[in-house]
Amino acid sequence: MQQMTPQQSIALNHKRIRAEFPALHQQVHGKPLVYLDNAATTQKPEAVIDTIDRYYREDNANIHRGIHALAERATEAYEGARTRVAQFLNARTDREIIFTRGTTEAINLVAQSWGRANLAPGDEVLISHMEHHSNIVPWQIACQQTGATLKVIPIDDHGQLDMDKLDELLTEKTKLLGIVQMSNALGTINPVATITRKAKAVGAKVLVDAAQSVPHLGVDVQQLDCDFLAFSGHKIYGPTGIGALYGRLELLEEMPPYQSGGDMIKSVAFDGTVYNDPPYRFEAGTPNIAGGIALATAIDYVDQTVGLANIAMWEHELLTYATEQLSQVKGLKLIGTAERKASVLSFTLDFAHPLDAGTILDRQGIAVRTGHHCAQPVMDRYGIPATIRASLAVYNTKADIDALVVGLEKVREFV
Ligand code: PLP
Repeated sequence: MQQMTPQQSIALNHKRIRAEFPALHQQVHGKPLVYLDNAATTQKPEAVIDTIDRYYREDNANIHRGIHALAERATEAYEGARTRVAQFLNARTDREIIFTRGTTEAINLVAQSWGRANLAPGDEVLISHMEHHSNIVPWQIACQQTGATLKVIPIDDHGQLDMDKLDELLTEKTKLLGIVQMSNALGTINPVATITRKAKAVGAKVLVDAAQSVPHLGVDVQQLDCDFLAFSGHKIYGPTGIGALYGRLELLEEMPPYQSGGDMIKSVAFDGTVYNDPPYRFEAGTPNIAGGIALATAIDYVDQTVGLANIAMWEHELLTYATEQLSQVKGLKLIGTAERKASVLSFTLDFAHPLDAGTILDRQGIAVRTGHHCAQPVMDRYGIPATIRASLAVYNTKADIDALVVGLEKVREFV
């Protein structure tokens, strides 16, 4: 874990923060909800819920094509949200931001558009052993379609990338390196800027899966110097069904459409259709307008209302506390003990199967995730079918961790 000095420890006003999330204030099976499934999806603050509500009550209209007042308002808000995402990621221009349904769709877009146009037999795509399925399967398919080969960087017992193997595997044949910045199954934070530098040296493009890093660490695409970066709104306190792909403009300009239909064209004729410029070339059909606008509200929430640095510091303190507390639970084994990690506690119990443990915890109002977390190769690496995963967000407190520890002792009693 990254070391922080005691002065950096902060006390967020949790009473106020928690008051902003209505879903947290409920009883589950007669017990107060302890929500520790944030890597799957986060709860939403009032501000995000209000934005969606207001949009449908006041501004609902289709965007880009209308000249009436509502269509103009909706278009302005949606395009304003694109600007907000661009600022948040430090993209050079709004044109580098493509709205997608989320990380999965963003990676599929790159695999099918850039991948199919640029990969050929003899080429290699390099990913890591700790990728989410959404950064594995699209590349398996693109490789099958193009004749390219998929290569995998191994991880060590702590759940860290084997950087020596990375150096060996990165060659002139590598056309794209796809890397998760923060693992959802292990919490490991990968040194993406260093990896990008190495990839650039052999001429490879770099795609960053930032589904987990954007909410916990924040990202700067210019500092990372990546070519593509994907994230999902619902993991950053925004709605489901919306996310974004950052793409370097020079690359987007050369890429063919991924899906086709309305809005992605300049003109359509039976003897030839002219595609629109990026980002619209990659946004066929009516998008998730309310979702895009509310994503901007969610970004304002983390970036301004609370502050990403405060979130990162608090979650780090909580992760340290949780790691210490869970280590006291007899028979508990943490999976993922990287030096640099964030917000994820994956573990097994020698006294209960993850599924049974998850069910018993749920009866106590404690929401955790059990299973392979869409990272089956990670489970295979450790020779286990599943883990129990507690994952943190800004509204979690040490009391949530204490409840989890008590809950695990109940699991021991029940099984
Ligand atoms: N990548 C990582 C690291 C994730 O944690 C997730 C979701 O859990 C995804 C990709 C896929 O995100 P989505 O399902 O929002 O497309």
